Amino acid sequence: MKRIAVLGSTGSIGKQAFEVVQGLGNEISVVAMSAYKNGDLLANQVRTLGAKKACLIDPYASNRYAPVFEELNVEFFAGARGLLEMVGSEEYDIVLNGISGSAGLPPTLEALEQETVLALANKESLVAGGNLVMSKVKAGNSRLVPVDSEHSAIFQCLLGQDGPGLRRVILTASGGPFRNMPADELKSITVREALAHPTWTMGRKITIDSATLMNKGLEVIEACHLFDIGISDIHVVVHPQSVIHSMVEMVDGSVIAQMGVPDMRVPIQYSLTYPERVSNPGKYLSLEEYGSLTFEEVDRKKFRCLEVAYWAGREGKTYPAAMNAANEEAVAAFLSEKIRFTDIAGVVEGVLEKHEALDGDSLDEILAAEQEARIRAHELINRLEGCN
Ligand code: NDP
Repeated sequence: MKRIAVLGSTGSIGKQAFEVVQGLGNEISVVAMSAYKNGDLLANQVRTLGAKKACLIDPYASNRYAPVFEELNVEFFAGARGLLEMVGSEEYDIVLNGISGSAGLPPTLEALEQETVLALANKESLVAGGNLVMSKVKAGNSRLVPVDSEHSAIFQCLLGQDGPGLRRVILTASGGPFRNMPADELKSITVREALAHPTWTMGRKITIDSATLMNKGLEVIEACHLFDIGISDIHVVVHPQSVIHSMVEMVDGSVIAQMGVPDMRVPIQYSLTYPERVSNPGKYLSLEEYGSLTFEEVDRKKFRCLEVAYWAGREGKTYPAAMNAANEEAVAAFLSEKIRFTDIAGVVEGVLEKHEALDGDSLDEILAAEQEARIRAHELINRLEGCN
């Protein structure tokens, strides 16, 4: 039986991971789980799955819920440091990182210190600290299996493709809910409209990132690190049905695609059972049901966040970390209705213009760059809030 830790267990990835675990029966046991502040749900998950360790990050929530977990006879960890302790407290067979935002980077690095499989959904780990993360993967005894559907697809397409045969990666994008909206209407988009993704049901932050196409920008940088490929060799194509999860083009012109219904439980399950495959947790693909699969060029002028991410990825150093931190702040401000949808790109660009990049070779440098970016993003957000 595989013993796993699920970080971010109360989120969209975490909840779907539990459905997968329950479907796998006795093959997997969840021994540890964490959330930011949702103590009620975390305690329910502990009861249902019989976990032995739990962690809450938020200080108020950890104080409030510590007695609840004590009563459940669970070893309880508190705060960001407590999370690292929980990750390092034993050798899990798999650590699934489903935390949202770059807060996922330190536990990613901690998991890679252990002899474990890191099932990584937290793409911000790779955007902010890709060099650090991949050097640990290369140096250690741990293995990284991507959970993000596009990267799981590329990972699968490259299985058995030894040698330098990869020409480029083709990342598919649904295009989000505003694919067909004229650019001058984007500024009046409401939070509710932006949260209505056409093909995927996800957490709030990634749903907004999907609407601005920053999500695709983050994924481009994520793919560079995971597959050791230059950013100019990653091509984004809009594919509204989200059936082809991504493709690789080989030097001989062969294009290999991975397909399936858009259901995150499939790549989550694959990351937990890899290299084995077991029965589908949802629905099998019927191509007749879809009829046609379509592809479009992405409009990089309208969706400036994608262009900014390519720029930051090309520049390297701490530019991607600063971009990601600025984006996290801007998305939170949009969700609180402080700024407009189109201001998100403006805040990120404004932060990057002034960013004094560091090499980004250590966690300290990355955290410093992020902090500077968050302060600058807040200044810009406050200014915009005053104008709106
Ligand atoms: P959610 O917002 O739904 O869940 C986030 C989880 O992380 C929750 O458990 C939350 O706890 C916890 N959390 C939030 N902030 C912190 C923090 N500062 N420190 C520790 N834990 C924290 O996000 P998603 O599940 O949608 O996404 C998680 C990650 O997976 C993201 O990186 C996303 O890009 C990636 N991903 C998600 C997909 C999806 O379908 N959802 C698809 C592909 C990738 P609490 O509930 O208490 O706030």
